[in-house]
Amino acid sequence: MPPCPTFQVMGRMTQNTYCTSCGNCARACPHENVAWRLRPLSAEAVQSARPHWDEAWFMLSLLALTGFHGLTMMPFWEGWISQLARLIGESGRLLVSFSISLGAAMVLPAALYAGAVWATERLAGGRRGFRRAFTQLAFTALPLAFAYHLAHNLGHLMRESGTVGEVLANPFGIDTLPLGAAARHGRMAGVPLTQDAVFALQAALLALGFVIALRVIRRRGVAVVGEGRGGWGLLALAPMILFAIAATGWHLWMLMQPMVMRM
Ligand code: SF4
Repeated sequence: MPPCPTFQVMGRMTQNTYCTSCGNCARACPHENVAWRLRPLSAEAVQSARPHWDEAWFMLSLLALTGFHGLTMMPFWEGWISQLARLIGESGRLLVSFSISLGAAMVLPAALYAGAVWATERLAGGRRGFRRAFTQLAFTALPLAFAYHLAHNLGHLMRESGTVGEVLANPFGIDTLPLGAAARHGRMAGVPLTQDAVFALQAALLALGFVIALRVIRRRGVAVVGEGRGGWGLLALAPMILFAIAATGWHLWMLMQPMVMRM
């Protein structure tokens, strides 16, 4: 039986960040001492996962990239990128304009997050240092990013699942002809739920992500503001709460816009 490909030590394993779920450990143990168990949703992000500087940046990148992905499907995206291309004199596939936009979309959330952490750290009296606070609180980005990603893809699922039955009935598309633009539009318009119902589900997902983000801020924030400082100490976390509100509001606004599909 091959060993753990990521060199995890079972007796000391408290988080699954580096586990690929290959199952080698469970299959290899001759005494069946290794088993799979479900944990409470977000348990690691809220409390148990060890924070690392590089992983903090990765989490922020996920938040930025999910937002950027949604942004490129906004109706005004093509206009924006064309204007930018005109400004810098680019034509063709607009790779430079796209890269500049991507860079800006990556920098802005990181700058806002860094500002929120800096303010929190100052309000807490500079107890832990900016870098440690930055790393500790970065888990806030995960539920915000994941909730938006799920909500965005729920929109895709609802708009694009109208033909699932046909695909299952004829998986190889035998004797089918390519669809025209009107037929494609008609199929996408055949959403199984109303727009309002889809939006309500999307908003519920964002609300869940926001609540988990608040739990992360509350639990991990204790390490930043210090144990036993009570309500006033926790007021130092207000900038982080504002960051979570801003991210959720931005995501909600994007979900309220019509989504442009690319064929
Ligand atoms: S399932 Fe077990 S063996 Fe596989 S990566 Fe995770 S800890 Fe390692």
